Amino acid sequence: MKILRSVKGMHDIVDEEIAKWHYVETAYRQHVERYGYREIRTPVLEPIELFVRGIGEATDIVEKEMYTFMDKGDDHLALRPEGTASAIRSYVQHAIGAKEAQTKWYYIAPMFRRERPAKGRYRQFHQAGAELIGVSEPSADAEIIDMAVRYLSDLGLKGIGVQINTLGGSESRARFREALVEFLLNRETDLCGDCRRRLHVNPLRILDCKVPGCIEISRTAPSGLSLLSQEDREHFDAVRRLLDRWGTPYELAPSMVRGLDYYTRTIFEVQVESDALGTKSAILGGGRYDNLVAELGGKPTPTIGYAFGIERLLLVLGETARPKSPVLVFVAGVGEEGGVRAFDVARNLRGFGIRTEVAYTEGSLRSQLKKADRFGATFVVIAGAEEASRGSVTLRDMSTGEQVEVEMDVLASRIGASR
Ligand code: AMP
Repeated sequence: MKILRSVKGMHDIVDEEIAKWHYVETAYRQHVERYGYREIRTPVLEPIELFVRGIGEATDIVEKEMYTFMDKGDDHLALRPEGTASAIRSYVQHAIGAKEAQTKWYYIAPMFRRERPAKGRYRQFHQAGAELIGVSEPSADAEIIDMAVRYLSDLGLKGIGVQINTLGGSESRARFREALVEFLLNRETDLCGDCRRRLHVNPLRILDCKVPGCIEISRTAPSGLSLLSQEDREHFDAVRRLLDRWGTPYELAPSMVRGLDYYTRTIFEVQVESDALGTKSAILGGGRYDNLVAELGGKPTPTIGYAFGIERLLLVLGETARPKSPVLVFVAGVGEEGGVRAFDVARNLRGFGIRTEVAYTEGSLRSQLKKADRFGATFVVIAGAEEASRGSVTLRDMSTGEQVEVEMDVLASRIGASR
């Protein structure tokens, strides 16, 4: 029979890979919870309108990459391509703003985009992110950037480059858009087909186009920084002062715009120099989106957040992401009575939080030791009838082959001490 395979661009996470996932996910949870973030989980499916309104109709994600379908009840649904729109939908739906003045949420979840699959680019991928809702102060921007960068550097990630820019608030952004359109109209015929259309619907996106001719034009385009309102400038300066004070590395990227429509004021990206992904590669992106809550039907509420791709992070971490594997004990029962006693011993050790395997099938001690070796056991506990009469077992250290008789009462603490 034909073997069925997973959908193109969507992968199983198995074997030693899963330990790496647990490692980065656990480190992420512990890290952001120290800053007061709580987890939020939202559905994988959302009404398509959420992303059209939230991310923007003229973005690549909405125009070209979303998985959308009509369900059997004729509801138009989309697999979520990112986490922020869903988080904000949830925030508005449950009137969280009426209950608390500031909300800190984080998530780790699968996302779906129908991009051309490549190394580090998948159709189902996973993002971990954070949203700080209800705080407009520049300290929120600086703290969340610093939180993200510290997470990555604590993992041991090398070659981190943080780029920041500001798009300004609505007014500054409108001024920038006007200046940009004026500049680009004179060069319209040199733009690619996509950008000629973007010029009329979403000109800022042109600065993000990867076509060489468009990159060349963007290089001389007016900078948004010179068109900022005084308030927007002061906000950005304050963010930078804090980052400088903490020694958080960053560089200014005046032409960075980011791919989603909802950003205002501070935006940032983390890139990593890595052979695994080829040259410089973006692994994290975020920014402020002060209009998004209102656009999704809530009261105007300032918000800032980011997300990074876990697959890309693991690729660039490479061998650095090798978690220390915990002690594994294999309990070998010898003879019929020993076979039963092996399960008593395993239950006892698991009760002390020790990872323990038992042989389900009877066999000679020799064959059980072989089995323990295949499992990668650190210790083997031999539960034989003779030791049973003394209330003890034999503990074998698999790395040295050394064996000692140990009383059951102290077995767990003895193994625990070696962790
Ligand atoms: P974005 O939501 O587009 O700002 O992306 C944020 C991060 O998600 C990127 O920096 C990547 O690390 C990751 N990412 C985005 N798209 C993909 C994809 N198709 N495959 C794997 N990771 C992705």
